[in-house]
Amino acid sequence: MPAKLRSRVRTDVDLEAAGRQVGRLYVPHSSQESAYGAVTSPFACIAGAQGPTVLLTAGNHGDEYEGQIALLKLLHRMDPADVHGRILVLPSLNLPAALAGRRSSPVDGGNLNRSFPGDPSGGVTSALAHFIDTELLPRSQFALDLHSGGSSLEYLPCGMARASDDAGTRRRILEALQAFGAPYSFVFETAPDERTLTAAGLRQGVLHIGAEIGGGGTTRPATLAVAEQGVHNFLVFAGVLRADPQSPASSRVLAVHGADYLRAPVRGFFEPVFELGDEVDARQLAGRIHFPEEPSRTPAEVHFATTGTVVCRRVPTRCLPGDCLAHLAS
Ligand SMILES: [Zn+2]
Repeated sequence: MPAKLRSRVRTDVDLEAAGRQVGRLYVPHSSQESAYGAVTSPFACIAGAQGPTVLLTAGNHGDEYEGQIALLKLLHRMDPADVHGRILVLPSLNLPAALAGRRSSPVDGGNLNRSFPGDPSGGVTSALAHFIDTELLPRSQFALDLHSGGSSLEYLPCGMARASDDAGTRRRILEALQAFGAPYSFVFETAPDERTLTAAGLRQGVLHIGAEIGGGGTTRPATLAVAEQGVHNFLVFAGVLRADPQSPASSRVLAVHGADYLRAPVRGFFEPVFELGDEVDARQLAGRIHFPEEPSRTPAEVHFATTGTVVCRRVPTRCLPGDCLAHLAS
């Protein structure tokens, strides 16, 4: 078997040093503008007394802002003297995408959260995934990856995890979601995508959860508060922060199944007749798709296929066949 390739990603952060360091990851990228250049990602390590390592990430998708702002604010206030263990913070994982307001990297088109376990010889996105998979996840016992709906979707604020077949892991994941303390917790019961960061963490035995907080390519005080409170509560849950949880209200746990996704059958303008958070029934009218190019054509009705709570909705009115218009949880 060929020797496993090591990462070419460099960092100016010493992962074994105590105290507070804020630096970068450097992913080599030779381009027209910079022959020996690099794509960077901000990276911080805050280490105090003995304790576990927690990996905090946001900006995995560049146009999801609540987590990115919450982690930047955390870096400003976190004192290593308060840390029992080590906190690894990547506030804008896919920095080129974040700066461009894009879901995927404008450098190589890579969707970082579909790139794990990555490839050290691949493009910048895949090489970054590989570094996280081989250098950061193996050092971590707990991990939190903060997402939102991005430009095209809006979510009810939730902690999120995929279901585990192992009873012990499933119980710990539910405990982590309750500790995170978002108003909702979603457990995905469908066949999971193995290419995500949280899937990579769970493969390595890391207690790894995600979050979908708001979206629409923007941020609001209420959604940002869920992200900031959730980060604090997760650090307390991991034992790295000795503090009280904030607003430890019970989170409503809902399951998401494969059939819960409502997709556009045709191209047009989608007129929804539901709101985010509505309880809906199977066969209930979800909305109509209008045809701007054919004003005389009768709008196409779209109906929900299952019963549940609308936890996610499409933001842009324009839709193409296959676009997710909403999804439910029950
Ligand atoms: Zn995302």
